[in-house]
Amino acid sequence: MINKIKMLNDLTINKIAAGEVVEAPYSVIKELTENAIDANSTNITVEIKEGGQKLIRVSDNGDGIYEEDVEAAFMRHATSKIIDLEDLNTILTLGFRGEALASIASVSQIEITTKPRNQSYGIYLEIEGGVVINKKQVGCSNGTTITVKNLFFNTPARFKFMKSPQAEATKISELITRLALSQAKIGFKYINNNNIMFTTSGDGHLKEAILSILDKDLFKSLIPIHNQKEPIKLQGYIGQPTYARGNRNYEIVFVNGRYIKSKLVYKAIEDGYKEKLPINKFPVCIMNIEISPQLIDVNIHPMKTEIKFHNQQMVYDLIYNTIRNTLVENTTVPFFSLSN
Ligand code: ADP
Ligand code: MG
Repeated sequence: MINKIKMLNDLTINKIAAGEVVEAPYSVIKELTENAIDANSTNITVEIKEGGQKLIRVSDNGDGIYEEDVEAAFMRHATSKIIDLEDLNTILTLGFRGEALASIASVSQIEITTKPRNQSYGIYLEIEGGVVINKKQVGCSNGTTITVKNLFFNTPARFKFMKSPQAEATKISELITRLALSQAKIGFKYINNNNIMFTTSGDGHLKEAILSILDKDLFKSLIPIHNQKEPIKLQGYIGQPTYARGNRNYEIVFVNGRYIKSKLVYKAIEDGYKEKLPINKFPVCIMNIEISPQLIDVNIHPMKTEIKFHNQQMVYDLIYNTIRNTLVENTTVPFFSLSN
């Protein structure tokens, strides 16, 4: 017998989509924090309890959401950031698909309190498994606070796949470190199980943010890098070769303020350090690549952590040459000879 084809309902569609966007607590934090960044916030606080399994809270002092838009923000494919695909050629916001809030809300209990500057009251909305269960006006400060509790409470298979709270917290700490470093103009505070893990000042200086978050020895070894060759601009810090690492954790790369993972960029960095580092040691490099949105594609990965550079050679060459030249000028460690 042939089964009839039927359209799925919205709640089911959102839960299926959540499988892609909401992999674990850290993906919820990534989406919420990126929304806070996109909302022109100058202060963002991220709080977790038990690796985010019990509680995730992201508060910002940004634009807020108007009363008439609050529910729409939780609808699938609803976004204030683009109107059509062409807009991706010019936008610099981190989000654009309009599916994160709908996906998260479909697999958790979520509360939002939000108030734009020129609306005299705030709105509180509570959603459980994608269904609105409470909405009211409240007094609150400007900006948005979103609290996510009991993630995956209605998707037992996903719930089972969560790692231990400690393992989740480790991934989350790494993520928040990167997000805070990607936006030195925003003051970040990160709270884990009621302990303040770090705060950054938001004074716009990457070096200050690095000092607030990473270790002091690393800070002392930093050399600034800066290079511009139209249409790309590089800016950031690399570490002295003496501060080599056992893994790639400190190869931290942003493209227009978006944290990304890129084999091409890691290769350019590591090739730049070739003969300066022993085998199986990795450099420190924290840098932002500024490039016209027309020359990249940010829409190739569900979590948008991978992007495509249209001209890979140009990107490789600029990074490689910048790092090579900076090392030649600033380090006393000689390059190991290639000939022996
Ligand atoms: P996207 O970020 O792709 O637009 P989301 O589902 O993450 O999609 O968010 C939907 C919409 O809700 C956003 O386009 C934005 O208008 C609004 N929004 C979400 N979070 C915030 C926030 N912290 N401050 C202000 N507006 C927000
Ligand atoms: Mg978003």
